Amino acid sequence: MALITQAPRGTQDVLPQDSYKWQYVEQMALAIARDFGFHEIRTPVFEHTNLFQRSVGETTDVVQKEMYTFEDKGGRSITLRPEGTAGAARAVLEHGLLAGALPVKVSYLTSCYRYEKSQKGRYREFHQFGVECFGASAPQADAEVISLATGILGSLGLANVALHINSIGCPTCRARYTEALHAYFAERQGDLCGTCLSRLERNPMRILDCKSPVCHEIAADAPVMLDYLCDDCAAHFEGVKSCLDAAGIDYVIDEHIVRGLDYYTRTVFELVSDQGLVVAGGGRYDGLVSELGGAAQPGLGFGMGIERLLMTMEEQGVRFPDAPKCDLYFVSMGQAAAQKCFALASSLRDGGVTVECDIVGRSLKAQMKYADKLGARYTVVVGDNELETGHAQLKDMNTGETEDVSLDDGLYAVLRQKLLDSELAGMADLFGSVADFM
Ligand code: ATP
Ligand code: MG
Repeated sequence: MALITQAPRGTQDVLPQDSYKWQYVEQMALAIARDFGFHEIRTPVFEHTNLFQRSVGETTDVVQKEMYTFEDKGGRSITLRPEGTAGAARAVLEHGLLAGALPVKVSYLTSCYRYEKSQKGRYREFHQFGVECFGASAPQADAEVISLATGILGSLGLANVALHINSIGCPTCRARYTEALHAYFAERQGDLCGTCLSRLERNPMRILDCKSPVCHEIAADAPVMLDYLCDDCAAHFEGVKSCLDAAGIDYVIDEHIVRGLDYYTRTVFELVSDQGLVVAGGGRYDGLVSELGGAAQPGLGFGMGIERLLMTMEEQGVRFPDAPKCDLYFVSMGQAAAQKCFALASSLRDGGVTVECDIVGRSLKAQMKYADKLGARYTVVVGDNELETGHAQLKDMNTGETEDVSLDDGLYAVLRQKLLDSELAGMADLFGSVADFM
């Protein structure tokens, strides 16, 4: 029978055998953000279209080409979020958080939607871990957000990812820079792509971000913003660099980063894998809050692509925790034994043990085979004899060794001790490999 349809292009299913990797990365990111005082915010998948037009910027690829925009049944223009910052900014403004204690520091895990040409590392539905910090203008804030991003990668064991930083100044110094860029590109306008021709008048900085090879080549020799920074912006950038230096965080200055969204000011940064994949991008956006109608407040943050992060971890052979396994499988023979196993399984699960038992009504042999397939660490066979004596054999599926246990009184304690011992051995093993790594 043919399936009625397939998943839409550019989307991915995360299957049960892989989801633990996602959970590992997501929980790690949230936990490290918590250590920095960033707490989770959850905002809607869709927002009013004008939120993204205003914040991401009319002249960006995201707004011009990539948004999933539709009219809802009430005639409103709605857009699936292409990124996480706008929604977070809208929410903290709407709920008055910026009128309270500053800074406001939030983190999020979100799905994002962009109508892009799908290819490796580029999807139409993708996921971001991100943070935003509102109300902090000191260079220390930039360094904190950057060190959070690099700290997450470090904790996941990712080594070959470089931090690229740049400053794109403020509206004042950028005006001078934009003039210089305009002059540079105007001389070469015959070679620019159609989109960049329209960008030339509206926002020549966007040309620097064009993915067309010809525009990219022309952009390579364009004037760079660092040469045009005003005194305040230059001092801020120096401050960020010296904080990073003090914390021993390596970086490279990359004058070509401008970032694809209009709201950025001053510091921008990217984390780039040795395969050239941009795993995370972010920066400062001091004009965003006022652009959305709030009283001016500085802000900054980053978005980290979970798919690209996982891809880079796989490419670099980073160690993931073990896939979740079944600690114990109860093999039962007969109705009464099945019921006993069900009850035992419930109480063991209350004690934190991962237990499964037969729910299909299989034969003894088929149950054993299934336990093997599950990778169950231990099995216990329960039949009439075991019901009568209250004792059974706890079998270690790796070694084949068995141990007599009392089903009601001894099983939990024995099993717990064994699982604890092997967990400790596993941790020692992991620490051993981390020590090797360092
Ligand atoms: P790119 O230059 O690769 O298009 P971008 O500048 O559009 O990236 P951002 O808007 O800064 O990306 O998003 C932050 C992060 O989200 C990126 O660094 C990347 O890891 C991830 N990301 C962005 N677009 C996609 C996508 N279409 N598929 C998968 N991940 C993405
Ligand atoms: Mg993009």
